[in-house]
Amino acid sequence: AEAVDKQEAALDSVRHFPYLVVSEDVGAQSLLNKLIRNNLVNTTNQVEVLQKDPNSPLYSVKSFEELRLKPQLLQGVYGMGFNRPSKIQETALPMMLAEPPQNLIAQSQSGTGKTAAFVLAMLSHVDPNNKYPQCLCVSPTYELALQTGKVIEQMGKYYPEVKLVYAIRGNKLQRGMKLQEQIVIGTPGTMLDWCSKFKFIDPKKIKVFVLDEADVMIATQGHQDQSIRIQRMLPKNCQMLLFSATFEESVWNFAQRIVPDPNIIKLKREEETLDTIKQYYVLCNSKEEKFQALSNIYGAITIAQAMIFCHTRKTAGWLAGELSREGHQVALLSGEMQVEQRAAVIERFRDGKEKVLVTTNVCARGIDVEQVSVVINFDLPIDKDGNPDNETYLHRIGRTGRFGKRGLAINMVDSKMSMNILYRIQEHFNKKIEKLDTDDLDEIE
Ligand code: ADP
Repeated sequence: AEAVDKQEAALDSVRHFPYLVVSEDVGAQSLLNKLIRNNLVNTTNQVEVLQKDPNSPLYSVKSFEELRLKPQLLQGVYGMGFNRPSKIQETALPMMLAEPPQNLIAQSQSGTGKTAAFVLAMLSHVDPNNKYPQCLCVSPTYELALQTGKVIEQMGKYYPEVKLVYAIRGNKLQRGMKLQEQIVIGTPGTMLDWCSKFKFIDPKKIKVFVLDEADVMIATQGHQDQSIRIQRMLPKNCQMLLFSATFEESVWNFAQRIVPDPNIIKLKREEETLDTIKQYYVLCNSKEEKFQALSNIYGAITIAQAMIFCHTRKTAGWLAGELSREGHQVALLSGEMQVEQRAAVIERFRDGKEKVLVTTNVCARGIDVEQVSVVINFDLPIDKDGNPDNETYLHRIGRTGRFGKRGLAINMVDSKMSMNILYRIQEHFNKKIEKLDTDDLDEIE
């Protein structure tokens, strides 16, 4: 009993002292991606499927009709503007809707239709006549839970008998009450409390358990244990579904503890390449000179939209100021902004309201703004040890086959150290980065 108490105390401290939580960054990043995404990520890659029973036939559907959904749900799906299942939904949906239910671990990058898929599965499996929780969905943060809740509400719009409740901090229920809603969505700590300590939910009656954003989940202290403790209370025949954008070893180990006998679906990320990108560098001596070079570039070529990356907030703020003084319409993305504010800035930029987006490295990680044709590394990307961050470099300026457009990348170099970084990046990708003379810019167009 003492050990359990200790564990409780440890979990409580995590719940009550959010500064112990390390996932702020990944959680916020994931939310940001959701807020700014308004359509599917296209991919030409094929899904990889590993079936629990390799001898059973593998179904995949090309239309939502083939799934024999309840008419109210089909209406909800079409009402959201979906015409056909996404790549991952083609195989994931028949698997999740099969009888008897099958367990699933699915991995694909954000924006490929995972949330929509499990929301449809949850809505299909509940019986609205039963007034008690039948599906639990755990998300890593309060905000992500709300986002998923919105999708449930949208897709369930024509199926109002199905009700939803949020198990999130601040949602205080009366002691002794029993929930009547069929779907509960929330964060692991509160969900666990509601199942065990407060008994608002009878875990034995749960038919579907969804664990969303497993990679973000395990980056947060305590969440992994809490999720496992919830899972252990569920009946053996409960359908377990786990989703993740990435699949490192740690995520994979966690997934296997949560989902017994899984089917596995993976959809590879589209490879980014530097093949269609012209890469240049400009040699300067100070940040003022870098700014001057940037002005020259702007004077010489027409730039529809550009993203400019700086290493620190201070530089980003300074540069944004200088650029607007020169008459540019500048958007600034900075670390002290709330996620919602950041999403608003990105949306304005994407809509073309501003032509230049100045940002720090951290802020724009993983953000795709597809129409940007010029990327400027005002500071080169380096990791915390000062080594070149090749992955970030590639992601910033690389293009996937789907956009195919030619792009331009300009790197600002202002010291021996940054020249060295540049050489190492060039070597890593084995692609020449040409020197650009900003007093003579004819060559670049
Ligand atoms: P993920 O959970 O993998 O990040 P989502 O389910 O949130 O992906 O889907 C990403 C975006 O694509 C959302 O805006 C969603 O409404 C939309 N979407 C999902 N499935 C489809 C579909 N079959 N057809 C069109 N749009 C879709």
